[in-house]
Amino acid sequence: MDYEGILAQIAQEIAAQTDRGTPADYIPQLACVDPAHFGMAVALADGRVFTTGEADTRFSIQSVSKVFTLSLALGRFGDRLWSRVGREPSGLPFNSILQLEHEQGIPRNPFINAGALVVTDAILAGHAPREVLGELLRFIRACAEDEDIHIDDAVARSETRHGDRNLALAHFMAAHGNLHHVPALTCGTYFHQCAIEMTPRQLAMAGRFLVGASGFPSQISTGSVRRINALMLTCGHYDGSGDFAYRVGLPGKSGVGGGILVIAPGRASIAVWSPGLNAQGNSALGTLAVERFAQKTGWSVFG
Ligand code: GLU
Repeated sequence: MDYEGILAQIAQEIAAQTDRGTPADYIPQLACVDPAHFGMAVALADGRVFTTGEADTRFSIQSVSKVFTLSLALGRFGDRLWSRVGREPSGLPFNSILQLEHEQGIPRNPFINAGALVVTDAILAGHAPREVLGELLRFIRACAEDEDIHIDDAVARSETRHGDRNLALAHFMAAHGNLHHVPALTCGTYFHQCAIEMTPRQLAMAGRFLVGASGFPSQISTGSVRRINALMLTCGHYDGSGDFAYRVGLPGKSGVGGGILVIAPGRASIAVWSPGLNAQGNSALGTLAVERFAQKTGWSVFG
């Protein structure tokens, strides 16, 4: 397959778009990112990597980090994790508090903010935030085979200063006994995990542990790989998860920094970055780019 040609065509189509979406503005440090950025990387099962655009520019991975914390939590707690967080799509915005009241402080899934806060709270058990963030960075660096991956402190500070909504979610869950640390500590750890910055190339490399192909390095079990992919497909794009599955047909996890990690099981890990978001908080042109990539390669989990 002519991956270079396919990526070049996609970059051309993306460059021609006039409606690029709007960067997230509730985290001031993200609001000033230019929506014109675009980068994409594809890491194949055989080890080759193909890129287009700004594949080596760092961006804030934000909620894509939830894939890595979930992997650590499943490794540590296995199915016990599911007593604290569900596995159903929420059909609600990423930061919604609505369902928490109906469901006694148990978030719908680990990829909405409330669910991710519970996952971070779980891996904090017996550890200081610094240790958890260190373990997370070591895991991501090992997956990416790249040590040059760090937390952007300015983004973490910016979100901490404007984190009332996430703190509210945490307090609400604490009231239901589903948060085991003080809300400020769990939220502080979560804000720093979201502030990890990576390039599209690094993210595509790091995602290979979810591809499930022989020869791909994976630090987690085959069963967990399948389950995380299932959750990415059903819950990875908030209230846009069904639309992403329909358009792209591959598991993906987006972040409000404009990044998306997409897994083509058995074939490749794909990362795309375009900071302008659609109404659901998912990268508008990133989604278009991976939709075109899936069309051009014919890749889909549906055959
Ligand atoms: N740090 C962001 C928040 O909690 C992550 C949201 C996202 O990337 O979707 O609001």
